[in-house]
Amino acid sequence: MSTANRTPIVAGNWKMNLNREEAVALARTVASGSKGMQSVERVIFPAAAHLDAVRYSLAEVGTGGVQLGAQNTWHEPNGAFTGEISNEMIKDLGCGWLLTGHSERRHVVGEADDLVNAKTRAGLEAGLHVVLCIGETLEQREAGQTDAVNERQLRAGLEGVPRDALSRLVIAYEPVWAIGTGKTATPDDAQNAHHAVRKVLEALFGQQPATDMRVLYGGSVKPNNAADLFAQPDIDGGLIGGASLKADSFLAICQAVL
Ligand code: PEP
Repeated sequence: MSTANRTPIVAGNWKMNLNREEAVALARTVASGSKGMQSVERVIFPAAAHLDAVRYSLAEVGTGGVQLGAQNTWHEPNGAFTGEISNEMIKDLGCGWLLTGHSERRHVVGEADDLVNAKTRAGLEAGLHVVLCIGETLEQREAGQTDAVNERQLRAGLEGVPRDALSRLVIAYEPVWAIGTGKTATPDDAQNAHHAVRKVLEALFGQQPATDMRVLYGGSVKPNNAADLFAQPDIDGGLIGGASLKADSFLAICQAVL
């Protein structure tokens, strides 16, 4: 019988927001405000342009255990890829984490499953922790396709991922219709989707890896709804967009998982 022993994660996706001064100030406040919260992993994903400044600033004042991640990389190690950054480059900037498959990369930039897969594999091969984001659109939800879409994105996104990298893989279920809209899945709906996600992980990798893997919820998580979502048995924390841009709300969400 498999048992769950998963450390929760609260991750802040700052997207293309904040100037350098604001990013540094927010990172410092999050670091000092979450110092005692060792039982939840806290990760921030500033814009790539600010990673260096945030990293050096946190090195000065102390990270408080807050880890740094990048919102996107290219999957090749180097070469003629104008405008892109590599996994080694973000590691040089102090990042241990990478987001792949975020809905804005899929639906705004147009990244397809095979590119998401290449980025996920490359991030893991580079030794990073990778948060693979999946989730259905409103149209797909209304057509009753939530679990099927999640399964397709998981199977495609995880193709060829080696088992020895699974401890560095995290899944974020983020229904597209809930991201940045103020609408969120009910705790029951989110739990059902997470349970189905874990079943796909079990089919792909076996029971214990599926039991051990963290599956985050994302989509308009706020201090007032976080605790109910995080109380669900298959929800292991959250990927937070808008509410991660204010230290108070991000820290309140971290508290909600404790
Ligand atoms: C996100 O960008 O991953 C996200 C969940 O955003 P928000 O919390 O603003 O919905």
